[in-house]
Order: sequence, then C-alpha cells, then structure tokens
Amino acid sequence: MTSIYFGEEHESFRRTVRQFLESEIAPYAHEWEEARRIPREAFRRMGDLGLLGILFPEELGGTGASIFHALAFLEELPRSRMGGFVAAVSVQQFIATGAIHLHGTPEQKRRWLAPSIAGTKVGAIAISEPDTGSDVAAIRTMARRDGDSWVIDGAKTWITNGVEGDFVVVACRTDRDAGAGGLSLIVVEADAPGFSRSKLRKMGWHSSDTGELTFENVRVPLGNLVGEENEGFYLIMETFVLERLVTAATSVGSARLALEETRKYILERHAFGRPIGKFQAIRHRLADLYAELEAAAQLVYHAAWLHEKGENPVAEACMAKLLATELSKKTADECLQFFGGFGTVEEYPIERFFRDSRFGTIVAGTSEIMREVIAKAAIDGLAFPKRERDEDDAAAPPTPGDPADPVPPPAAEPLPADGGGPLLDGAGNPFAEDAGSQEVFEADVTDTLEAIFTETRPVTPGEAPAPPSEVTEPSFFAPSPAVESAAVEPVAPPAEATVPAFYPTAPVPVYEVTDPAYFPPTGARQMAGRDAVTLAGSAPSLALRIPVPTSVAELFETLPLRFRADRAAGWSARLHFRFKDVERSDWTVVIEDGSCRAFEGHDGAADCVVTTTEKTYLAIEGGQQAPETAFLLGKVKVSNIAAMTKFGKLFRKVAP
Ligand SMILES: Cc1cc2nc3c(=O)[nH]c(=O)nc-3n(C[C@H](O)[C@H](O)[C@H](O)COP(=O)(O)OP(=O)(O)OC[C@H]3O[C@@H](n4cnc5c(N)ncnc54)[C@H](O)[C@@H]3O)c2cc1C
Repeated sequence: MTSIYFGEEHESFRRTVRQFLESEIAPYAHEWEEARRIPREAFRRMGDLGLLGILFPEELGGTGASIFHALAFLEELPRSRMGGFVAAVSVQQFIATGAIHLHGTPEQKRRWLAPSIAGTKVGAIAISEPDTGSDVAAIRTMARRDGDSWVIDGAKTWITNGVEGDFVVVACRTDRDAGAGGLSLIVVEADAPGFSRSKLRKMGWHSSDTGELTFENVRVPLGNLVGEENEGFYLIMETFVLERLVTAATSVGSARLALEETRKYILERHAFGRPIGKFQAIRHRLADLYAELEAAAQLVYHAAWLHEKGENPVAEACMAKLLATELSKKTADECLQFFGGFGTVEEYPIERFFRDSRFGTIVAGTSEIMREVIAKAAIDGLAFPKRERDEDDAAAPPTPGDPADPVPPPAAEPLPADGGGPLLDGAGNPFAEDAGSQEVFEADVTDTLEAIFTETRPVTPGEAPAPPSEVTEPSFFAPSPAVESAAVEPVAPPAEATVPAFYPTAPVPVYEVTDPAYFPPTGARQMAGRDAVTLAGSAPSLALRIPVPTSVAELFETLPLRFRADRAAGWSARLHFRFKDVERSDWTVVIEDGSCRAFEGHDGAADCVVTTTEKTYLAIEGGQQAPETAFLLGKVKVSNIAAMTKFGKLFRKVAP
C-alpha cells in the first residue's frame, strides 16, 4: 500500500535488508534455534553492512538515517524467521545502547557504543529482577561506592543478550531510601569478577539468549556510571517510546509475514476439490486480519512520525505497541488454524511464529501496563510533555502550583509502575512536595511511570486536542546540543583495530601504507601547509605515512598517493565529484594509462558524476559508513554505478 511515510530511499533500503535476511540469516534459522544462540559472525556481518547503527550518528560509525529507515529495517527483521533474532538485534541496536548514546561520555561511547554499531560487541540492558518486572522502582540490585569503584550486589532476570553479551547496562539502586529517584545505570562488562550468568529455557525466541544474571561483590570503575547518579529511572523512561515503537514495528512485520505465508498456503492447499483460499469462511477472517494489520501499521507510523518530530508520543507509542503485539499474537493463532495439522509441525514457519508471537505482549511493558498508560491519557486527560533536561536542576522540585509541572505520584504509598515501567514510591519522589495534583493519583495503585512527566489537563467533552507543543527538544536519537558537543570532544582513537575511529577533533591519526605498489613516483610532499606525507625507511619495508584527511580537499590531494596502479591496467575514466556542503565543492579525478590525477574544478566530459556531502564521503573513506548503505539511503548519488564500483576498488582506504 502506498504510504506517505516511506519514499523510494526507504523502500530500496527495505529491499536490501530483506535480501540480506532471506539469503544470509533465514537459512540458518533452524540451526540457530536448535543451538539456542546467534553466532557472533551474524552481528559482525550486520555491523559491516551498516545495519546496526541506523539511527546513530556517522561520527560513531552509524548511518544517521531517519526513524522510517529504522521502521523499514524492523518490519523486515522477522524475515529472519526467528523471533529470537529479532529480539537480540533490536535490543543491541535500539534498546541497550540508547542511554549510552544520549548520556554517555566520549569514552563510554568509544568503549561500548561504537563497537556495538560495528557488531564487534554485543550489549544488553538489565532492568527486570526476579521480584520485580513492571514495577521498576522496586529494583533491589544495589550499587555502593567504594573508593574509585562501584560494588554491585543483586540479581537480574529475563535479560536478552544477557549470557553472551559483552557488556550489560544494569539498573542499580544507588540510594536505598530514594525510591525511583535512587536508581542509576552502570555498565558491567562480561569478565567482571563476581558476575555470573545462566541461560533460561523458554517456549520460544529460542535463538535469543535470555539470561539470569547474578552480581556478587562485582567491582567496576566509577566511570562506568551512565548519566548522573540517581537519574537512572529517568534515563530508562526516556527510552520507552522508542522501545515500544521497536516492538510494535517488529510485530507488524511478523504479522505481515505470517499473512504472506498463509496466503501462499491457502492458495495451494486443496479441500473439497478447490483451494481452501476459495472458502469464504477463511477469506473473510484473513480480510479482517489484513484490515487490522493496516490500521495497526498506520498507528505505528504515526507515533514514529511524532517521535521523529520531537514530540513525546507516550500514549500513541503504547497504543501502537498494544495493538500491534496483540494483533501479531492473534494473527499467528488464526494463521496456524488455516494450516491445519501442518501448522503444528516444526518444519512449517507458522509453528515458530505462533510460539514467538507470544512474547510481544509481555516484553517492553505488558499489554496491561500499555492499557494503564493509555487510560491515563484518554480517561484522566493526562498529557505527556517532554521532560525538561536542565542538568543543573535535575532533581529540583517544580514550583508548586505551576500547572505545567510534572504531576507527582503519591507521597506515601508505594505505587506499581509502568512495565518497562516502574512505579514511584513516595520516598523517592522528587516532586513529593507538589501537592497540587496528587488527588488524581492517590487512590490509584495502577499509576504509571509516565506520570512523573505528566501534566494534568481537565478534559472537556468534545474538546479538540491541543496542538502539538513547540518542538524544543530533539527526538530520541537526534543528539541534543549537549550530546553533540560531547561526541566531538577530542578522545584518543580506539585501541581495537576493529572499532571504527572517527573523531574529527582528535589528533589526526596516521596510518602506514607498506605495500610498495602504492608508493607515488615522487617522494614526500607538503600538503595544506603541514608535513602530511613523509617517506620512511626503504623498500620493501618502506612506509608511506598519510594523515587521515579531514576535508575533501585533503582527500583529493592525497588520492593519487593511495592509487593502486596494478588494479587500473587498461581502464580509463573521468569522474566528477560535487560536494553539497563545502565551498571547494567540485573535483575531477582522471584515471588514465595506469595513473591517477585529481584536481579542483570540473574538466572534460565525465563518465560518472558523484554527488554527496563532505561528511558522508569522509565517513566512507574512513570506513565508518558502508558505501552501499550510503548509496541506498540516498546519501550518495552516482550517475554510473559500474564506473563508481570499479573506481572504489582502485584506492587504498584511509581506514586503519
Ligand atoms: C523473553 C523475554 C525477554 C526479556 N528481555 C528483557 C531485557 O532484555 N531486559 C529487561 O530488563 N527485561 C526483560 N524482560 C522482562 C520483561 O520486561 C518483563 O517480563 C515485563 O516487564 C513484565 O514483568 P514481569 O515478568 O515481572 O511481570 P509482573 O510485573 O510480575 O506482572 C505479572 C502480571 O501482572 C500484570 N500487572 C502488573 N502490574 C499491573 C498493573 N498495575 N495493572 C494491571 N496488571 C498489572 C502484568 O501485566 C502481568 O500480566 C524480558 C522478558 C522476556 C519474557
């Protein structure tokens, strides 16, 4: 169905994701489900293809694409034919690393976020505990300061990627008496002494490892705290909208695939001399499911659009998650029925759909909790303004009586919280002094976490909804000014060679080219006023040192030095480059007689015209952006793909 949300760039990205899943992942579904694990190579491969950093900025190796690229990806994920794979990848990319991206230090991003995007590390987030799931504020796992360390004791359960993951973002209690206001997020790495884990055996999602984690005197550096101490509750909250959209989108994709498989089956399977797809009893039930699916999908897109715009669509995301996950469960059940006995056989995909679809209504906040949040908005008239993130005033109580203040939860009785959504207890409530709106909540033990970010508004029957508030805060993954400046703080390049390094203001790293075939005919030369290229030693151990270019001008000036003449034999081409975001925008590269020339301006008739931005091209050359992904996302436009592909192979990359 034509959509106002998805353009050709999203659809071509969707096709690429689908092709990858169908050819490189789905064939292994049975094997990985049996093994109850996803091989590391799968994460690494997705990282190489640029599929694990869709919303993250290019500086960290991500793609910096839109939420609708993410939705296209998420809707396709069920093509892996494993709910477990969907869960593992969703957690890795959209849930475990969200707080690190938004609030992590440059060092934390280097250690955990960049490798997660590259697929070289797998992450998890541990909130749920054996005694508390929906009620997040009741978390008991303790972290206490001791010298320059946190010492953690406690247990977590149901943790996706928990056993095989390299690091876990753990929600810990750092103030015993402060309720929800006493939680913090602390990263624990897999090899921390005292940290042990074991795998749970579940009815479905077999390939996803779901762990029980135990922390016994686990000591980690103070620097592993993400965001501010005792702000963990708010950081968790901040990720809820995206987490619910993610679950909703994968549920839409899963239901869509179940219908697709069922349609094929009912047109092939015969009973009473005709395909069973000709029986009206079956056709009408499927027609209902198609209609409901379309409605659920459009709600998901709408909520995502609000999110992308910078709104805080808490209720819409809960509605989308509720409808999509319940529908996915119902669709799998109905479709299994149309497969008859074959629907119960493991070789048929519908059997796994049926088991896997059962999880959506439990994870990321149960359906009951979703209804609670929706009821708060629809019945009690609560709106969900964006949280003001005033760093200096994070825990300060709002001015009493100000109608725009967050609504306080009750001061005395502990309340159940939103799943994936906690509850505040009064002791920990930073707004407890504001008695203005408490009566709304006092008698209501099903209050939700979202209440802290809520303002009450009397509902007048028939009243038109208020216009969306002014967008003052960027959407979840768009870096806030604070984050952006943090992201470009100079930091040392990553220690691991496999982790992409792209830290624009860091000291310029220098990489060595040791293959004599790459040496330019002449020796050292000056570039842009600094010692950029020097020859050291003598062949064959000669090393040509080339600084990583920080502009396209530098890149083109050093291009001939990276030319692989041995690969260009017999090939001639003239390429014109145009960069949309820089003054020195036009460049020509000529390959001729086994040599390469690059100069500013456009000269002669081009065999290929390349249009992009400096930022994207440097990211490609630096290895942080896969060229195919950049092309599919419309970030690079190329008039002659064959010529560009050939051209791309003629140069040594500047990536380490
Ligand atoms: C496969 C799997 C993977 C998971 N992955 C993770 C993960 O990576 N990280 C993580 O932290 N957690 C994870 N979870 C945990 C998940 O978020 C919780 O299971 C969920 O939040 C519910 O918590 P609970 O299981 O403790 O149920 P409870 O909170 O004990 O709820 C039990 C029942 O009571 C209902 N209920 C609770 N409160 C209310 C209320 N106020 N009103 C009405 N009904 C209510 C619930 O809806 C539910 O039906 C995962 C769970 C599963 C099954």
